[in-house]
Amino acid sequence: MDDAGHMTPDEFRHRGAQLVERIARYMEEVERYPVLSRAEPGSVRARLPDAAPERGEPFADVLRDIDEVILPGLTHWQSPNFFAYFPANASGPSILGDLLAAGLGVQGMIWATSPACTELETHVLDWLVDLLGLPQGFRSGAAGGGVIQDSASSSTLTALIAARERASGGAANRHGVGRGSGPGDAAARRLTVYISRHAHSSVEKGVKIAGLGRDNLRLVEVDGSHAMDPAALEAAIAADRAAGAVPAMVCATVGTTSSGAVDPLRPIGEICRRAGVWLHVDAAHAGSATICPEHRGLIDGVELADSYTFNPHKWLLTNFDCSCFWVADRAALIDALSVLPEYLRNRATDSGAVIDYRDWQVPLGRRFRALKLWFVIRHYGAEGLRAHVRHCVALAAWFAAQVEESAEFELAAPVSVGLVCFRHRAGDALTEALMNRLNETGALYLTHTRLDDRLVLRLAVGAPATRRAHVEAAWTRIVETAEALAEETRSA
Ligand SMILES: *Cc1c(COP(=O)(O)O)cnc(C)c1O
Repeated sequence: MDDAGHMTPDEFRHRGAQLVERIARYMEEVERYPVLSRAEPGSVRARLPDAAPERGEPFADVLRDIDEVILPGLTHWQSPNFFAYFPANASGPSILGDLLAAGLGVQGMIWATSPACTELETHVLDWLVDLLGLPQGFRSGAAGGGVIQDSASSSTLTALIAARERASGGAANRHGVGRGSGPGDAAARRLTVYISRHAHSSVEKGVKIAGLGRDNLRLVEVDGSHAMDPAALEAAIAADRAAGAVPAMVCATVGTTSSGAVDPLRPIGEICRRAGVWLHVDAAHAGSATICPEHRGLIDGVELADSYTFNPHKWLLTNFDCSCFWVADRAALIDALSVLPEYLRNRATDSGAVIDYRDWQVPLGRRFRALKLWFVIRHYGAEGLRAHVRHCVALAAWFAAQVEESAEFELAAPVSVGLVCFRHRAGDALTEALMNRLNETGALYLTHTRLDDRLVLRLAVGAPATRRAHVEAAWTRIVETAEALAEETRSA
């Protein structure tokens, strides 16, 4: 400790090495922990002192509490047996990039507060446009550009605000939503937003935050594969327009959270173009797959989109938080979000030659998130990233094949990239009991959804440590546990 109580660089060197060692050991041991935490509500807090320490404590004590208090209260997202929700990838290069971002302690709200923070972000997002097969118009050299947000929820909220301003001709920002200055004012009219029933809850949340009103959110009918029906979308837009509303945005999902359904971007995009409606694409999970050319079909028609988001923090080996967001027309975004107080004025901003990312997001301040993504892309190369996706897709396909061949189980939706939806043929009660029993064992963790009003289990393959043997063991355990439950039911 120095005379101000700070950790000296030398102490940091020593403690840092200890902590990195602890993380490496966690990576080696994570498979041995019960995947779903067994902590009871309040049990973690019960082990923490009521008051914060008055005097500083030894770092060794903190490390000890990591093992004794924190780890038992974790669900192990990096376990090879984690198949719940969607994955939240972590990787060595990403952890190191995040550590470096913390170590440099930069706040990159505008270009001038750290030019490298902004320029690396712009550059890596331009790289990703090519790596993922996204439209050239999303590149910063064209009219568009990309930015890293904390989450897909924020990306979608940002898109909603830009779409709101475009649809209201800027009136919503000036007068508020639904408070036009005169009867002919666009802001006096309701703005409507369209999603499928299976779109992520973050769109509804964004509609609430953006002040558009949940009554103006339309749930468009889906087809047999749970994807948005373009004809139903077109009819809904026409009906709203006839009723005097202004259709503002369609959010299409590529890879729904429930079942991985893919809303068809091309026909939806054509409808949006004809109707002058902003098309936002939420590809939070499945978007990582388009790094493989064989999965580009998922985003056929994406050149018709006004904005697009996907999360490297789900499936592209980058630690939370890292959600990439692109717009085709950055001026629309900046017009909607820019406010320039005197204390942020500077020559670079005034020259118009730089990007100030504060105008691309809700908060002002921002972390140097591009570092971890840059580390990941440079460590794995495009080849390594494709191999990760292909490995997971193949394991999910293997699992789906077992389900299809089984007499007891059936697929509940078309298999999507890395996600299998299945259920026990005996019905919801057994399917639910099976999930609970499996998760209680700690040997694996999977979650559920409802499709066509039936309970469905989701197996999402995406944790970097997952190997074929883990998916095989999961299938064996699922089959054996279901047999045991069926036997218990019979003898009851
Ligand atoms: C996970 C998910 C989200 C939310 O992602 P956050 O980054 O946690 O906000 C949004 N949409 C879809 C389709 C998702 O799967």
